Amino acid sequence: MNNKKILISGASVAGPALAFWLNRYGFEVTIVERAPGIRPGGYAIDFRGAAMQVLEKMGIVDEIRKFETRAGKITIVNKNNKKIASMPDGFTSGELEIMRGDLANVFYEATKEDAEYLFDDSIVHIAEGAAGVEVTFSSGTVRRFDLIVGADGLHSNVRTLAFGDEAKFMHHLGIYFAIFTTPNFMKLQDMAGLYYGTLGKRVGLFSAKEDTEARASFYFASPQIRYDYRNISQQKEMIRECFTGEQWQVPELLGYIENAPDFYFDSVSQIRMDRWSSGRVVLLGDAAHCASPMSGMGTSMAVIGAYILAGELKEANDNHTMAFNRYEQAMRPLVTASQKLAENAEWFVPQTRFKLWMSRQIWKILPYTRWKNMMIELPMKAANAISPKDY
Ligand SMILES: Cc1cc2nc3c(=O)[nH]c(=O)nc-3n(C[C@H](O)[C@H](O)[C@H](O)COP(=O)(O)OP(=O)(O)OC[C@H]3O[C@@H](n4cnc5c(N)ncnc54)[C@H](O)[C@@H]3O)c2cc1C
Repeated sequence: MNNKKILISGASVAGPALAFWLNRYGFEVTIVERAPGIRPGGYAIDFRGAAMQVLEKMGIVDEIRKFETRAGKITIVNKNNKKIASMPDGFTSGELEIMRGDLANVFYEATKEDAEYLFDDSIVHIAEGAAGVEVTFSSGTVRRFDLIVGADGLHSNVRTLAFGDEAKFMHHLGIYFAIFTTPNFMKLQDMAGLYYGTLGKRVGLFSAKEDTEARASFYFASPQIRYDYRNISQQKEMIRECFTGEQWQVPELLGYIENAPDFYFDSVSQIRMDRWSSGRVVLLGDAAHCASPMSGMGTSMAVIGAYILAGELKEANDNHTMAFNRYEQAMRPLVTASQKLAENAEWFVPQTRFKLWMSRQIWKILPYTRWKNMMIELPMKAANAISPKDY
């Protein structure tokens, strides 16, 4: 094998999932992650359809089930915490649900013996030659690899280095969001969740970790903002500024921001690209085709894409161009269907009084209509837009 040494940028979901398969097929894998360790945080993510088949092939379902969660009842409340509408247990759950941070850890544990992990580092330069790629890291180290995989998320560093400015590929869906851990001070039980909304803003509080803690989420509608993706203090300030003066439990929740151990902030955006590879570089997961949190499909796509990319590399006998093309061809229908799921993201944070009123009416009647399972059925349909072959 000539294309044996593979460098992956990003150790969240897509990167370690790819390392899992590449290790199994005999590749030499290095993963570089900018954070000092596997990043905690995020809310529950769901697996469904083809992603479940891939997890079963990985033989990792039992391990994931040890951390399994199931979203409880969701109640939409007014400023006095009085119920406006409620959705039953498991309203959004897929076939298997786990906290994002727990999943990233399961994948890390399953790969750390065979893959080399470099934390607290990042790629700063890629120089591609006929026989490989010379990579310079921010630590100053220079090393040679055969192929580079960008699995470094919505603001992918590898994408910028190989394809240019992210602005060319980023489609902002008009919403920003933050999520972080708080104490379960409202004593929510059975993974229950509350949502409070005003014009252009929504705040959620969901019980987590068997009700021992909670996750607060803040959403606000806004045209694209220029901010530093790495400056967490600035991002916390943006949330404070936007939500100060709001009612319900907002003042208390804002008080927990400063010391949150896992504050995560980003835009609700999609990455739309004509191609995911260039020479010896290929993109995977959100880096290639982020569908936004509103799709509920980001993690499933990352896991399925990792399986297909590794399988095609194994079968291509060193013809990485063929492997990259086949991977992309196989993934496109799933990506198109998943990105479509997020098209109506604006309804989650309505910006006119009429839409806010309408959205409340929809929440009220939804559980009694034949569309009551839509939050489960639509992602399931997208999740089955692909049947991964055996490699
Ligand atoms: C801390 C965190 C919390 C999240 N919370 C949510 C959530 O609540 N809801 C939701 O829908 N999605 C959330 N996501 C995104 C979700 O994980 C992805 O949509 C999905 O799982 C696909 O994963 P991915 O591995 O492609 O990308 P991501 O999960 O975004 O992972 C990208 C990884 O690359 C690393 N990275 C970034 N830049 C560099 C660099 N220059 N060099 C090296 N490494 C780099 C990041 O630190 C991260 O570990 C979260 C992601 C993270 C990292």
